[in-house]
Amino acid sequence: MSDLPPTDRILTAEVLSIGSELLVGETRDTNAGELAASLTTAGVRVERITAVPDRLEVVTDAFATGLRRAGLVVSTGGLGPTPDDLTREAIAGVCGETPSVDPDLERWLRDLWARRSLPFPESNRKQAWLIPSAHAMPNPNGTAPGWFVTPPSGGVIVAMPGPPREMRPMWEDHARPRLHALGLGADVAARTYRLTGIGESQVAEILGDALLRRANPEVATYARAEAVDVRVSAVADHGVSAADLVSETAAIVEERLGRFVWATGATTWSQALGARLADLGWRVAITETGTHGQVAAVLGDVDWIALDEIHGTSSANGGQPSDDALLAEARRVRTASGAELGVAVHAHERERERDTIVTVAIVTPAGEVVERRTAFLGGSLGRTRAALAAAAALLTSIHEAG
Ligand code: AMP
Ligand code: MG
Repeated sequence: MSDLPPTDRILTAEVLSIGSELLVGETRDTNAGELAASLTTAGVRVERITAVPDRLEVVTDAFATGLRRAGLVVSTGGLGPTPDDLTREAIAGVCGETPSVDPDLERWLRDLWARRSLPFPESNRKQAWLIPSAHAMPNPNGTAPGWFVTPPSGGVIVAMPGPPREMRPMWEDHARPRLHALGLGADVAARTYRLTGIGESQVAEILGDALLRRANPEVATYARAEAVDVRVSAVADHGVSAADLVSETAAIVEERLGRFVWATGATTWSQALGARLADLGWRVAITETGTHGQVAAVLGDVDWIALDEIHGTSSANGGQPSDDALLAEARRVRTASGAELGVAVHAHERERERDTIVTVAIVTPAGEVVERRTAFLGGSLGRTRAALAAAAALLTSIHEAG
């Protein structure tokens, strides 16, 4: 942290994605979301994400208005060598400065071609441009250096190339450190609890209006496919650190909802299971029926799965198997693979009710259980829910067995 007074710190930002390919849907804008997450973690409030086509007046206007509204504008794209790459021209216009070829950058660029014994395309010379207000940020993965700009009128512009593999290291290694040196972000902290076995509205009821309406710390709930998340976040206030503010409120959340929490942060089901299984040195054998392989999809390519069988709907009428039959399946894959855990998952969609009944049989060194749950959806969403329910049942049984 720098010792700038709080008012001079960079507290707000806009993210600008430049490129006509984004507006016709040919390229998906992943850069903006990644940068927004990084800025948010750094305590910067991202106020706007904008995508603009490769048109000089539009790009120039986006930088100019962004700088009027926020302390920082971070852009990606438009730094290529072709005439439709106009980011440098736009920033020069906003700063009222004229680009000129920087001798060091030109030497670096020409050398890239010389090393491959290729003639230097003169169009690439514009990638060696700089303006007086800009510093070049090196690009070890491409030919477009970034620009770190402190415009005469105030604020900061960070311009990076569009390809994510060029943007990411430039952001981490050059842009972020420079921004930190200027004083980036407020003191913020956040903690996320991942809940299962409870719906979002029930979570909201248990937490209560008083807690959910507070601005700092803020308590927010998010219903996601794999969990209901409760996120506690805070900004330092009146000499109390953000971390302390979060801890106080998080203690209340834990007290009220702790029994539903299966993970914290951005942990996935696969990671939560993997961590616990690694502690025990256990592996899992799975046979899934009627799920279209969703259990395997949820768990992913992990080394603790000893065996995974995927079946279509087994019985003639597509109905549910008996508990004993499913347990026999779990025992069978366990024995066949030598894994410590045997799991048999059976999903059965009820078309009239538009829901999916999932039955999970689990055999552990400590015993056997069968669980049956209803996912209130049919089709592929129901099968995904069924797989998540199976993951939840598995995690519970590991906790009990281990
Ligand atoms: P540019 O820097 O404009 O030459 O961008 C070159 C390439 O980077 C594009 O063709 C895309 O493949 C990729 N790209 C550009 N912008 C983005 C973005 N916002 N998110 C993800 N990829 C991008
Ligand atoms: Mg482009």
